[in-house]
Amino acid sequence: GLPCSFQVCFVCGERGATVTCQEMGCDRRFHLPCAVEGGCITRYFLPFSSFCWEHRPQQQELAAPEDTNCLICRDPVEGRTTYGTMVCPACKHAWFHRACIQGQAMRAGAFCLRCPLCQNTKLFLTEMLLMGIQIPIRLVSSWPALCHAWTCPRSCGPLLTPKSRL
Ligand SMILES: [Zn+2]
Ligand SMILES: [Zn+2]
Ligand SMILES: [Zn+2]
Ligand SMILES: [Zn+2]
Repeated sequence: GLPCSFQVCFVCGERGATVTCQEMGCDRRFHLPCAVEGGCITRYFLPFSSFCWEHRPQQQELAAPEDTNCLICRDPVEGRTTYGTMVCPACKHAWFHRACIQGQAMRAGAFCLRCPLCQNTKLFLTEMLLMGIQIPIRLVSSWPALCHAWTCPRSCGPLLTPKSRL
């Protein structure tokens, strides 16, 4: 490859960008902390792979109904699936911001994360991982306590009651 001094991050312009887009023939490099600003995706499972904004995997193109709000923060979402706006692949009715589902994933972990609306776990988790959401794997023994993380961020009560896992 190129000498270190040429590893320039295409987002911030600084050197030392160690992450490279997986796309053949794409030279874009970036720092991990610059990924969101640059619209890049890193898949947090082995083998780790990263993509620039141009080559990143995308969700099925869907339009959000008018006046749709993020299920997590209750703020409006964009009118369709984008980098920042995501939808549940199972019910296609649960919309949320990338930052919001990422926050929820960090709190809930792989054993508790599910669609806030239809409660789907398998399809939901797979799609979130493929779209670059980092989902920590926690010990099974600790999941009941962690599942209580699924409460309303404005503490107006539980957003949903975790059902017993199959
Ligand atoms: Zn950078
Ligand atoms: Zn690329
Ligand atoms: Zn949100
Ligand atoms: Zn759903």
